[in-house]
Amino acid sequence: MGKVLVVGIDGGTMDLVLPWAKEGKLPHIGRLIREGVAGELKSIIPPLTGPAWASFMTGVNPGKHGVFDFMKPGLEQIHLIDYRSIRIATLWEILSRHGVRLVVIHVPVTYPPPEIDGYLIGGTLSGKGPISHPPELIGEVEAHLGERYRTSMPIGPRVGAERDYIEEFSRWHLLIEKTALYLIERKKWDFFMTVFNITDGLAHFLWRYMERGGEFGDGILQAYSMVDRSIGRLLEHIGRETTVILMSDHGFGPLKKNVNLNLYLLKKGFLKFRKRSYPKAALFMAGLTPNRLMGLARKFKMTERTRSIPIEMRYRILDWFLSFRDIDWENTLAYSRGHIGQIHINRPAVERKGWDFYQFRDRLIGELWELTDEETGERIVDRILTQEEAYWGEFAGEAPDLFIIMRNFSYLAYPLLTSDNRIVTDYKVESRSGTHRMNGMFVGWGPSFPPRARLEGAKLLDMAPTILDVLGLPIPDYMDGKSLAGRPTPREAEP
Ligand SMILES: [Zn+2]
Repeated sequence: MGKVLVVGIDGGTMDLVLPWAKEGKLPHIGRLIREGVAGELKSIIPPLTGPAWASFMTGVNPGKHGVFDFMKPGLEQIHLIDYRSIRIATLWEILSRHGVRLVVIHVPVTYPPPEIDGYLIGGTLSGKGPISHPPELIGEVEAHLGERYRTSMPIGPRVGAERDYIEEFSRWHLLIEKTALYLIERKKWDFFMTVFNITDGLAHFLWRYMERGGEFGDGILQAYSMVDRSIGRLLEHIGRETTVILMSDHGFGPLKKNVNLNLYLLKKGFLKFRKRSYPKAALFMAGLTPNRLMGLARKFKMTERTRSIPIEMRYRILDWFLSFRDIDWENTLAYSRGHIGQIHINRPAVERKGWDFYQFRDRLIGELWELTDEETGERIVDRILTQEEAYWGEFAGEAPDLFIIMRNFSYLAYPLLTSDNRIVTDYKVESRSGTHRMNGMFVGWGPSFPPRARLEGAKLLDMAPTILDVLGLPIPDYMDGKSLAGRPTPREAEP
């Protein structure tokens, strides 16, 4: 059995990595690309950190693992997903069963920590309980670090305080790096993995700065450089038998506009408010929206406080204004929830009207294709995926009925009803100008990846099968991906 080192580069995109590597700006990643195999890695729908890492961990599409968004289903309250939301065996369970000794650090959605054969420290989306397996591991790590371990950033990005955010993120990155270096040296492992997410955080914040150049224009490059240096340090601790995989959960690109899909559905008559919510709805339509209120708050310098509010709370505040509780469910036929472009059809209401679900869906698709940016007069929809086109498997029926992809994800849907009273608006959150794309990155290096031409068609779903294959383990038939390793997989070798 060989060994595997996986470095997850959250939001890592080949569009940035390849030119920077060629220019010599990312020497370690560049060397791995030159000596191994590299290409784009296609993410899943939706290309969001939570569901994407769940697909990485399971080798299946969300229709089989059941995680479709950051939020759990249910309109009444916002609950974030965690490890328990993944409803199929993860790599950690499969590898542990085969006696593979694991070290897993900072992979998103690994809280509460599963009991694995080895060591695990939770990543993004961790809760307040113990974050490591075994539980005492975190104390050992903190004794080495000389400070508290952190699974999230203590501050949010803010225009005017760019340096603070970059410095804080860098400090956090080095904390994770130091943890990884400590564990890679001290623990026995066959599979070692850590995720770095400074690349995601700074790309969300600084994309616009990179496009226009000037101060902080190289902030994203700095983030990739830090990850490159961390990779270099990790590589000092591996032997010849180790295969190295660099991979990301999704790519990145510019974020341009906001699309209030629920407002569109409201204007088209697919979504209705309850009578008692009419006054609120009227205020909203007249332009008194949370964005306006946030604007006023900014004037009174209350923004720092609002920014440090955790995402769950922020949703709740927005939610209070005009929310799903204000919707007349008897008469609402379709609504949007989630911020990528998810549309749910309220099937009981559609059927009560005596309509066929599929006929209604076709009509809705027709209307959605008409979505236009009022400012430019241009249509904005690239693709509309139905549930069965996006997903397959046991839980596929829980997914949204439609996914609208607008301008290659540079136009995002506003999560709730509360933004502006126009359908398409400029993206208002100043501290966000980058967002996720389908094209992530993959680099394979070492005994399982003899150098070859650029890899085409690799998918995030291929990661779990690839890792199993490299370790000489069978790939379960239910997995949706295939091995990318440079020799026949056991299944392909069969006559
Ligand atoms: Zn991500």
